[in-house]
Amino acid sequence: MQEKEAMFYRKLDKGVVQCQLCPHFCVLKLGEYGKCKARQNQNGKLVSVVYGKPCSIAIDPIEKKPLYHFLPGEAAFSIATTGCNLACKHCQNAEISQAYVDDVPHMNMTPEQVVLDAKLNNAKIIAYTYTEPTIFYEYMLDIAKIAKKENIKNIIVSNGFINKEPLKELCKYIDGANIDLKSLSPEFYEEICHARLAPILETLKLLKQQGVWVEVTNLLIPTLNDSDEQISKLIEWVKENLGHDVPLHFTAFYPYYKLNHLPPTSIATLKKARKMALDHGFHYVYTGNIPDEEGSTTYCPRCGKPIIKRIGFEIIENNLIEGRCPCGEEIAGMWS
Ligand code: SF4
Repeated sequence: MQEKEAMFYRKLDKGVVQCQLCPHFCVLKLGEYGKCKARQNQNGKLVSVVYGKPCSIAIDPIEKKPLYHFLPGEAAFSIATTGCNLACKHCQNAEISQAYVDDVPHMNMTPEQVVLDAKLNNAKIIAYTYTEPTIFYEYMLDIAKIAKKENIKNIIVSNGFINKEPLKELCKYIDGANIDLKSLSPEFYEEICHARLAPILETLKLLKQQGVWVEVTNLLIPTLNDSDEQISKLIEWVKENLGHDVPLHFTAFYPYYKLNHLPPTSIATLKKARKMALDHGFHYVYTGNIPDEEGSTTYCPRCGKPIIKRIGFEIIENNLIEGRCPCGEEIAGMWS
């Protein structure tokens, strides 16, 4: 399949181009790749070199993303290309996120073929995930446009490091997002992820303004972002800017990649973070990557009864009636 000219860039002098897709604003001379390894200056044109070349495709339960308040139990046709605009020291998918397109095996699939494959697999959702969907923006957008016409929902699992203009365009086609808010510390983002915090906060606010269903994940890494102070800051920012109905997922870190010298997150830390958020008035707070019945269950904020019970990514009980608890209370989410 042909590589595709990128959206959101400008031409500078002498064949140099500047990408405007994410807040890195890479300036690329002829032949150079952006930090994401997914966009290249080819003869003075910025090109998405990963367009139509997915390296990972799978059918996952939507709970795996995790999105707990979005069509529970439905299958999400999940897709990724190589590349990422961050370089997190704890990346679980570094073999594809830090790779060039030809470093790993990939398929050739048009957007039409992707949507057809999703339909053949009875997936009501397409999830742009595993690496960072922003860096395969044009491919994602073209798939999402077709999927929307076919009544398939689109969701992103993203680091949120994207500029406003492309995000606004994307919001016309996506229905849900899980944003990985790693910390409220700018230093954490700079040292651990080679990125900046401020644009990610802007993304979260814009997604909410645009009516996209948002859930937030915070991976707690021992000694780096798991202090009471850091957890409190994050909880307070989310409450103030997104509201207490946003589902918050505190998930466990396991030693990996460049942070394999750190211990895994303790269950006590995850439970502590969950309690802190509940004490701040959050209605839906979860723990992830550990077995925890309470932390996997959605409770009604009014009567306190369990609404949706999960074991791992599986729903074992669902008492929702048209988006409401049997007591009548509306449960925030996109349920149909
Ligand atoms: S999307 Fe890629 S090329 Fe564009 S600014 Fe971000 S890292 Fe650079």
